[in-house]
Amino acid sequence: MLKFDHVTKQFGELAAIDDVTFEVKPGIITAVIGPNGAGKSTLVNMAAGSYGVTSGRILVGDTELQKLPKYRIAHAGLSRTYQNIRLFDGMSVVKNLEVALVPPRVGSLIANTFGLSGRAAAEERRARCHAVLERLGLAAYAERQAGSLAYGQQKLVELARAIVAEPRVLLLDEPAAGLNHGETEQLKQHILALRAPDLAMVLIEHDMKLIMSISDTIVVMNRGRVLAQGTASEIRTNTEVQEAYLGQ
Ligand code: ADP
Ligand code: MG
Repeated sequence: MLKFDHVTKQFGELAAIDDVTFEVKPGIITAVIGPNGAGKSTLVNMAAGSYGVTSGRILVGDTELQKLPKYRIAHAGLSRTYQNIRLFDGMSVVKNLEVALVPPRVGSLIANTFGLSGRAAAEERRARCHAVLERLGLAAYAERQAGSLAYGQQKLVELARAIVAEPRVLLLDEPAAGLNHGETEQLKQHILALRAPDLAMVLIEHDMKLIMSISDTIVVMNRGRVLAQGTASEIRTNTEVQEAYLGQ
C-alpha cells in the first residue's frame, strides 16, 4: 500500500537516504529501526511531504506522493506523528484533533459523504474527535489545554490526532520515546488495537523490546540504506544488524 521505490535524499553532500526500496503492507505493523542518523525520520518526512525527494518514488497505491503538496498527501490518506511533539499547546485537546479534520476539502468530503449541512458536519467532526479520545483513554482531557498535559499524555494526543482522519497509511515516528514503562505498555496496546486490514502502519522506534514484541516485519536502516528486512527472530540473529548496532 505504501512503497518506497529507489528513493534517495541528498542534504548537500550527505545522502541521508541512499536508494531505499521497501513496501509497507496493510494489515500488519512494519517497524523501521536503525541507529541515530540512519535516515528513519527523513523517510517519514519525505512520505508526508515535509521534505522533497531527490530521486525515486513514494507510492500509495498508484499515487506518487513525491509529486504532491502536503495537504494532498494527507487527503491521499497518509498521516504521521512527529518525533518531537507538535501540538497546539494553547488549544484544547479536542481542538487539536479537530484541526486535523478541518481542512476545507476534508470537511466538505465528510459533508458530502454524510449529506450534512456545515453545522451538522462540524458536529460530526467533533463526535469523531471525542470517539478517538475515548478510544485512547483521553476522554477526560478533551477540554484541557494540550500544553498543560503530562508528556506521556501529549504523545498520546499526537497519536489521536494522527488517526482521527482514519488514514490508510500511518507513520509513527518514535511514539514511545520518553515514555515510562507503564505508558509504553499502554501505547503498545493502542498500537496493536489499531492494526486493521486496510491500514498500513510504520513504527519507528528505539525501544527494542517494544519493536520485537509487536512488529510483523522489521526494516533495518543504517547510514541511509536498508541493511536487512525480516521477522523479529530473523533480525535478532542477523550478524550485519548486530554489527551496525555495536558500532554505534
Ligand atoms: P534518524 O531519524 O534515523 O535518526 P534522520 O532521518 O533524522 O535520522 O537523519 C538522517 C541524516 O540526515 C542525519 O545525518 C541528519 O543529520 C540528516 N538530516 C536530517 N534532516 C536534515 C535536514 N533538514 N538538513 C540537513 N540534514 C538533515
Ligand atoms: Mg528520527
